[in-house]
Amino acid sequence: MTGLKASTQNPESLKLLAGGRWLDSSSQDTHPTFNPGTGEAIAMVPFATREEVSMAIDTAQEAFDSWRKVPITERVRFIFKMKEVMEKHAEELATINTQNHGKTLEESRGDDMRALENVDTAIAAAYTLAKGETLDEVSREVDVQLEKEPLGVFSIVCPFNFPLMIPFWFIPYAIVLGDTIVVKPSELTPVPMQVAAKFIQDEVGLPPGVLNIVHGGKDVVEALIAHRNTKGVTFVGSTPVAKEVYRLAGQHGKRAIVNGGAKNSVVVQPDADLGRFMPSIVSSFFGNTGQRCLAGSNLLTIGKAHAMTLPKFVESAKGLKIGYGLEEGIQMGPLVSQSARARVQRHMETAAHEGAKIVSDGRTLRVAEHPDGFYLGVSVLDAVDPSMTVAKEEVFGPLASVIQTESLDDALDVINKGTGFGNMACIYTSSGRSAREFRRGANVGNVGVNIGIAAPPAYFPFGGRGDSFYGTLHAQVDTVDFFTDKKVTIYRW
Ligand code: NAD
Repeated sequence: MTGLKASTQNPESLKLLAGGRWLDSSSQDTHPTFNPGTGEAIAMVPFATREEVSMAIDTAQEAFDSWRKVPITERVRFIFKMKEVMEKHAEELATINTQNHGKTLEESRGDDMRALENVDTAIAAAYTLAKGETLDEVSREVDVQLEKEPLGVFSIVCPFNFPLMIPFWFIPYAIVLGDTIVVKPSELTPVPMQVAAKFIQDEVGLPPGVLNIVHGGKDVVEALIAHRNTKGVTFVGSTPVAKEVYRLAGQHGKRAIVNGGAKNSVVVQPDADLGRFMPSIVSSFFGNTGQRCLAGSNLLTIGKAHAMTLPKFVESAKGLKIGYGLEEGIQMGPLVSQSARARVQRHMETAAHEGAKIVSDGRTLRVAEHPDGFYLGVSVLDAVDPSMTVAKEEVFGPLASVIQTESLDDALDVINKGTGFGNMACIYTSSGRSAREFRRGANVGNVGVNIGIAAPPAYFPFGGRGDSFYGTLHAQVDTVDFFTDKKVTIYRW
């Protein structure tokens, strides 16, 4: 499948990629994937059978036996080619991303750009971080050598919200280091990765079986982890599933990098430069329609910052132009699915019931040209207490909860004790001292200072703590030590 049929009549079924060939799944268990901007089904997703999953892994295992022997300089050339191919098709990939996820075209370009940044970093890492070490003469005539060896087949399980970037937190590193992979895109947004894989397969010329794709949900993920030839799994998704995946990986003795959900706080001090930073604060909550694991969810104002911030925040948020992401000037797209929209609506009802005050109600928004799209306007709740459900649970949509605090210590208490998550927290302030106190005090993996989405570039690890992350090594450049194992040889000649 290279393109999208903009028709609900007979949407094309996605194929599986195994051993360098695109195969029709024999599965009867198929589900539509949508264009959230229009509400149309654009493809059918076959949930692969256990035999098909097994075949994809076995094919990857077969490919590993020769791929690991390909000199690293040659493997790097394939990754350079991958970069060239993805750059060449960047606009097509961004368009498809918007059609399947709903984010604006500009956001899709960013998603793609972050994927490419990981391709660049994998190339650099191959010649630097993947090198071993030696120590001469540790004892008389004895030398020690350490090398990092590839391990075999890895499964890459992806969430819906960054259909391009998140698979590439792992793909180029695993491949350049000599491993082979089976990627399972989200069943909600599988098309961008499918199309990227088609470009890579057709134009990069990777040996058959190095990159494989299967589709599905829970059963497929479990089969991927349990298979005897799988050496490890990378997972990004919600916390309940993350816990289950981490448990399964442990049970089967597999390596795991497991990123879970989030509940991020954005702190505003009275000394914040709101004139300069309000667009950044608003974008933290409503960029990608609030469906970012680094999105702001709780807006913690300190003291007088509440009165200064709330009216400007609501006004700026309400000014966002909402609609179909491929149309000119759109600043916020729809939710990914009807059920995602319903979840946000439910959170608002519960919050109102628990005593929060609705100061902007996105539930009334209608996009006239696309009545079947999964749209929701921006919502802001004031007078939220840290004990309320909406302040503690992940919402993952365009809803901001404003919580008043008295001091930086109070705000840090909400961050560190309020939710159990630990993905990101950020502060808006003009004080270096407060910024430092915040950086040291916030028990999260990613911290922003006057930055609303503290996304580490590919050449830094993507952090996460508490219920937002299970494991030791993180995504992006940290995966070099995940996708390789250290072997130490002691010589005497
Ligand atoms: P999800 O947990 O529903 O699905 C993630 C993946 O797990 C999908 O591929 C899905 O098919 C699979 N899956 C679903 N149920 C499963 C089960 N019971 N057992 C095994 N696999 C299962 O997540 P989502 O809705 O696609 O993505 C949004 C979530 O991802 C949010 O919670 C968000 O915070 C999180 N996320 C986290 C990060 C991070 O870096 N921490 C980054 C992006 C997204």
